[in-house]
Amino acid sequence: MSDLLLADANKRLEKALKYVAISEDAIEHLKFPQASLSVSIPVRMDDGSLKIFQGYRVRYNDTRGPTKGGIRYHPNVSMDEVQSLAFWMTFKCAVVNLPFGGAKGGITLNPKALSRMELERLSRGYVDAIADFIGPDIDIPAPDVYTNPMIMGWMMDQYSIIQRKITPAVVTGKPLSMGGSLGRDTATATGAFFAIETIMSKLDRLPQETTVAVQGFGNAGAVVAELLSQAGYKVVAVSDSQGAIYAKQGLDIPSIRQYKLSSRGMKAVYCQDTVCNSVEHESISNEELLALDVDVLVPAALENQITEANVNDIKAKLIFEVANGPITSAADKILEEKGISVFPDILVNAGGVTVSYFEWVQNRSGLYWTLEDVNQRLRQKIVEETNKIWKIAQELSISMRTAAYVHALNRLGEAINAKGTRDYYINGKTY
Ligand code: GLU
Repeated sequence: MSDLLLADANKRLEKALKYVAISEDAIEHLKFPQASLSVSIPVRMDDGSLKIFQGYRVRYNDTRGPTKGGIRYHPNVSMDEVQSLAFWMTFKCAVVNLPFGGAKGGITLNPKALSRMELERLSRGYVDAIADFIGPDIDIPAPDVYTNPMIMGWMMDQYSIIQRKITPAVVTGKPLSMGGSLGRDTATATGAFFAIETIMSKLDRLPQETTVAVQGFGNAGAVVAELLSQAGYKVVAVSDSQGAIYAKQGLDIPSIRQYKLSSRGMKAVYCQDTVCNSVEHESISNEELLALDVDVLVPAALENQITEANVNDIKAKLIFEVANGPITSAADKILEEKGISVFPDILVNAGGVTVSYFEWVQNRSGLYWTLEDVNQRLRQKIVEETNKIWKIAQELSISMRTAAYVHALNRLGEAINAKGTRDYYINGKTY
């Protein structure tokens, strides 16, 4: 699998290139990550032994501003994965017009196997190792898979200790008490919900007549399932890493969330229980959830869930990518041929980084906003960019994914060209 992810991510770019007037210089820039840092982090474990963990931070492209992106703690984290996620962040920030480039970070580990104190030492050690690579005007980390506000708080604190000054704007997704923003914890799901609402009204779909399956019950999946069920959608299946539950008549999402939250409370930082056993349901596998005959499928777990191997089982008519990269480019092509509409990650899950931007703005101005302010600004941004991408897709008769890349490429190309291109120097040509 190694090295394949970035190559696969780059394929999305190639597809969009024929629809944009972009200089060759810009294309060359966007093919490669600007800077990739790999670090070894020594951690004293609770039993006294020393363990070395591998960590990464990649700044993909900073033409539009300081780079931005989360930090992932997962056993599958590799340089290739972090580079492709940083590539996606570059396009995601451009899609929603944030003054940021793209970045990503990660540590290869099973976070559930570490105690809370070990996790704290690891998180602080990671910041010690990457401190010269990040900063409020350089690169701003945030949460991603299996990292949370507590971990972001440790990281901001460690960076502030190193700098000998309180530096809240170096990390977003912090606890509220350390300069976090209201609404950041639910922002990815809230943004996804605004995107889904905007699209469903264009398609004249009524929530009450729409069945939904959500893969993943973490920060993004659980909240999006709840928002959809509150809005009247029939959420018939949800899953976590241990398995899925299905109920034809619709699931009681608030009580499943309650069950997950209470067991998480008992299990310190990471919940080890599954959602199973909490409601009347049928237990199914994650694979079966993806293949359910529903109107809307919401992959909200990890990348590479829909591949050439299972794409022909997919029966949903609409797919909203809340996870980053859940569909491979090969599977994407087949879905398009089958007439299944995919709404891409770089638009649908951009709510998280959008509210991270709001948090950064609040940290730098020192003025903190209400939850209503945050959500109203988030809605405005997501609705506006969804409408623009929809229009591009209609006008050029292309998929929403390609349209989102076209939209981002136009913005990225403009910024790269503004710095001066070969044509600009040789022929006096401006794009
Ligand atoms: N990890 C999230 C993402 O993939 C959020 C990144 C951020 O807030 O910087 O979009």
